[in-house]
Amino acid sequence: MDAQHTIRRQISCVGIGLHSGNKVNLTLKPAPADFGIRFRRTDLGSHEVPATVQNLAGIQLATGLANNEVSVETVEHLLAALVSVGIDNLRIELNSPEVPIMDGSAAPFVYLIHEAGVKRLQTPRKYLKIVRPIAISRGDKRIALFPSDHFKVTYSISYDHPLLRHQSRTLRITEESFAEEIAPARTFTFLKDVEMLRQNGLALGGSLDNAIVLGETGVLNNALRYEDEFVRHKILDAVGDLALVGYPVIGHLVAHRAGHALHTEFAAKILEESQAWRLVESPFEPVSAPVGLPVKDMAHRLAN
Ligand SMILES: [Zn+2]
Repeated sequence: MDAQHTIRRQISCVGIGLHSGNKVNLTLKPAPADFGIRFRRTDLGSHEVPATVQNLAGIQLATGLANNEVSVETVEHLLAALVSVGIDNLRIELNSPEVPIMDGSAAPFVYLIHEAGVKRLQTPRKYLKIVRPIAISRGDKRIALFPSDHFKVTYSISYDHPLLRHQSRTLRITEESFAEEIAPARTFTFLKDVEMLRQNGLALGGSLDNAIVLGETGVLNNALRYEDEFVRHKILDAVGDLALVGYPVIGHLVAHRAGHALHTEFAAKILEESQAWRLVESPFEPVSAPVGLPVKDMAHRLAN
């Protein structure tokens, strides 16, 4: 049995909101078993917003949540860090609408969680294990989950830009692989879009300190952290957005040219497709596919 985890002690940091440019205080506090991940806006009272698909709101450039008119924005990098370290239960307090952008990656949050320490609770963790494929596509954007004994992500992107073109990566997500290969990958944007964002009152806190900015032929920043930092950041975003299903997912996520809108639509679809998964207490627990498989699937199984 794997147990649920929280953090050992309260910890805080200060950063700026990407869109508002305002200073934000972020505090992480331990929480009991089965509490889940919940946000609280200390500037708006005691109402809590659970980090679940039911509270999705305002998905454009980042993933936002809202409940009872209390909103929090840009939650995905922090959620990705929590999933990777295996934090199931946490109170997250903010004094502003946005999770601070830090350096545009999840590395500062992984560091913060490690500084707070991880505490094992006495209650079993439940995993959402995929037993039959789930997929959606919108035009040339696609996302799917397939059965696997691990949480694995394959992501591919293609852009009409000399530095990006086509990038693809597959990685089994563990605490170690996430910390070393994914967490430091920063968010990216195109210089031509920055002006448009600013005119719309967005990205006011954005700078070369918290995003990779792509000009016509290269990056404006001094250097990339990885040659394929862009696709690595997309994996980071997908891991964070998938956290909104409320359980660690055991399956192989495959995405092509997706983004927050498709990731979060997919997270909601997973919960709807309850025939496609089982809640289990171990990633390796054998689970049979549900009865009543369509004939096509049955034929495939017989042939294999
Ligand atoms: Zn991101």
